Amino acid sequence: MNSWLVCFNPACRARLGIDEVLYNCPHCGGLLEARYDFTAFEATAMKRTWRERRMDNAPLSQSGVWRYREMFPFLADTGPVVTLREGNTPLLQAPRAAAYGGLANLTFKHQGFNPTGSFKDNGMTAGVAQARKLGMSRVACVSTGNTSASMAAYASAGGLDPYIFIPNGNISYGKLAQALEYGAKTFQVDANFDQILALVRVLAERLGIYLLNSINPFRIEGQKSIVIEMMDQRDWAVPDWIVLPGGNLGNVSAFGKGLREMKALGLIDKLPRLAVVQAAGSSPFYEYMAEKGLTPFRAQEHPETLATAIKIGDPVSWPKAQFEIETTNGVVERATEQEIADAKAVIGKCGIGCEPASAATLAGIRKLTAAGVIAHGEDVVAVLTGNVLKDPDYIYRYHTGQLQAPDGSPIHPAFGNKPVTVPNDADRITELIGS
Ligand SMILES: *Cc1c(COP(=O)(O)O)cnc(C)c1O
Ligand SMILES: [Zn+2]
Repeated sequence: MNSWLVCFNPACRARLGIDEVLYNCPHCGGLLEARYDFTAFEATAMKRTWRERRMDNAPLSQSGVWRYREMFPFLADTGPVVTLREGNTPLLQAPRAAAYGGLANLTFKHQGFNPTGSFKDNGMTAGVAQARKLGMSRVACVSTGNTSASMAAYASAGGLDPYIFIPNGNISYGKLAQALEYGAKTFQVDANFDQILALVRVLAERLGIYLLNSINPFRIEGQKSIVIEMMDQRDWAVPDWIVLPGGNLGNVSAFGKGLREMKALGLIDKLPRLAVVQAAGSSPFYEYMAEKGLTPFRAQEHPETLATAIKIGDPVSWPKAQFEIETTNGVVERATEQEIADAKAVIGKCGIGCEPASAATLAGIRKLTAAGVIAHGEDVVAVLTGNVLKDPDYIYRYHTGQLQAPDGSPIHPAFGNKPVTVPNDADRITELIGS
């Protein structure tokens, strides 16, 4: 076999078959990760092949994930792949956001351009391919929204039945609407994310349903394509920093693994530093890393943030995230509700836009440059994780001065843009606009 699973726990490192239906190590309960035999890999030849695929109309070449499949060869053949042409997300320059963040230049990689509007598609196409390879007919996840929207789309496109479990009243309508439209059987459970995850693990075992939560090692493999595509788009020039929001911490784990593998294979010559930004009301990883890992990891029982995609009190992938932050000499920052809301409006004013969790990146960058951690002239790529239309209710409330933090305190719209009610009167409107 040229692919297998390994337990991430350094004290265990058990090696397991790639086709075993496992989410944790059966020996120690540790996280699992995929490993490959890369001995035949040739960096220069692969870079050329990946470029050529961009001009090829075959569905797998058109996918911004499967184009790079040699970096995650866990399928013996690509028959089980379901692609909606995920990935292919742009790098966008944003001078106004750069200035706000205290930088000379800032580039966004906007994962909200994906088929269901978030980076979850990069991972889900891989997770669903593995489910189909294993012969599963049902898949499930617990989700704050984007995972369920993505899983519903990919499962339905691939002829599998999607089952979605969501915390009651904690999901944006945009995301819930997607799950319903894409045909997922949807259960709203009166419990928080972490409690529902425990419930779904029991159900998955009992009913033979394949779990596609972020702990699933194949989703992590697909999400590596975000940084691989980013480097390809930059002609393999490594930035100084990659900044991303952190919830369950699967994405930072994927970025770190992808970057380490690219360096080991000679695709890039150094590692960028990773910066993860959490919402202040939901920041167990920030708090843990602030104590340099000297105290045990403590889950947060009542995480609170309007950025629902990162409202996670017990992030499953923290051991991987800690390893990747330490390996890349990275940092962890946190941003308040007010800071996230204003940063989001600035990103919107660039003509780009994103969902609240994504804006934690710019809010965090602003704090990290002020603190002298990121220098004004450094080359920074911030990953916008979700589309602006995921949470329109938040946007309307912000711009009309009605947005409140979870503790009820008002958010002052520093960049508010209220609609104006006018009479049907050209003279009056001319006066308002000014000649
Ligand atoms: C899932 C998600 C996140 C958090 O990613 P993790 O891998 O859970 O850390 C951030 N932003 C958006 C839009 C998401 O959908
Ligand atoms: Zn183990």
